[in-house]
Amino acid sequence: MKALRLVESGRLVVEQVPEPTAPGVGEALVRIECATLNHLDLYGYRGMAFANRTLPITVGVEAAGVVEAVGAGVDGFGVGSRVAIFPIEPCGLCPACRLGRDTLCERQNPIMGFHADGMATERVRVKARQLVPVPDTVSIENAACVPVTLSTVQRMLFENARLGPGETVLVHAAGSGIGSVAIRMAKAAGATVITTVGSDWKIERALALGADHVINYKTQSFPGVVRRLTGKRGVDVVFEHTGAATWEGSLLSLAKGGRLVTCGSTSGAAASLDLLQLVNRQINIFASFGGSRRDMLMSLQKMESGSVLPVIDSVITLEAMADGLSRMARREVFGKLLLRGFASNGSVEPS
Ligand SMILES: [Zn+2]
Repeated sequence: MKALRLVESGRLVVEQVPEPTAPGVGEALVRIECATLNHLDLYGYRGMAFANRTLPITVGVEAAGVVEAVGAGVDGFGVGSRVAIFPIEPCGLCPACRLGRDTLCERQNPIMGFHADGMATERVRVKARQLVPVPDTVSIENAACVPVTLSTVQRMLFENARLGPGETVLVHAAGSGIGSVAIRMAKAAGATVITTVGSDWKIERALALGADHVINYKTQSFPGVVRRLTGKRGVDVVFEHTGAATWEGSLLSLAKGGRLVTCGSTSGAAASLDLLQLVNRQINIFASFGGSRRDMLMSLQKMESGSVLPVIDSVITLEAMADGLSRMARREVFGKLLLRGFASNGSVEPS
């Protein structure tokens, strides 16, 4: 079968690999229908793995598909079940796992597509407890954006920052996969959304997503605009994932007692922190990494009700993944890039 393999940092190759063996106890075989590109792919492609890995690996950290076979002891899924795949196998036994805090599992679990073989291929064999059912009314393309993208936003805004109706949130990078979803999730929750973009062509598109105010942070000082828009008060929550380029301004944009939640640092990881400012202004900082299977379920419920759908930039083939990662790095996307066309005779057209 076909798989997109990272053979060395910076080199992706579509190769033929052996089919997975039949699913064992508690396992399922899933035919991948759609995968998506994430900044995690970009880090992996550039060789910025957080832990040891042995190349080559099949890439793809986020995907959805259809169950083709199940092993013994699998309840709740059968042949034909549409599923989104959690890219980590939590141990299910440690205190964190028992509380449903999958990403804090005490066992060092590899992330599929990042440390270990991932989902940019025709079929994967996974533990059934990594699967989350996709409701009939949710398309497989939208479901493919749940395991990393939507679940990350769900966790950041609601589990960590506890964003509530009537509050104001500053969402960075409206055109990014998670930024675009964060705007929609925050609006659906009844918040006022201020967002930043780095290019004027993204302003109209951010407004179309429901953002109340859009700031081009390259031509305007965003903390100053935020102060003006909030009557000098600042925002209740900042949704951070850009890091170095925005960190200082993000802290300055917060109201007293405000919450900053971050899941990444796409513009650089080094940032400074003024502890006096932190204490005087009683700012809370939350670090968030991915989401849990519960966050996936919550995200799918929101999709099912139609209140929050991902923003799709375009659909590309496996062969175009390196180009897609370059577009993401240059911030020339608005929303998600999807990967389709896994089967040898597969079509790249979205269904
Ligand atoms: Zn665990």
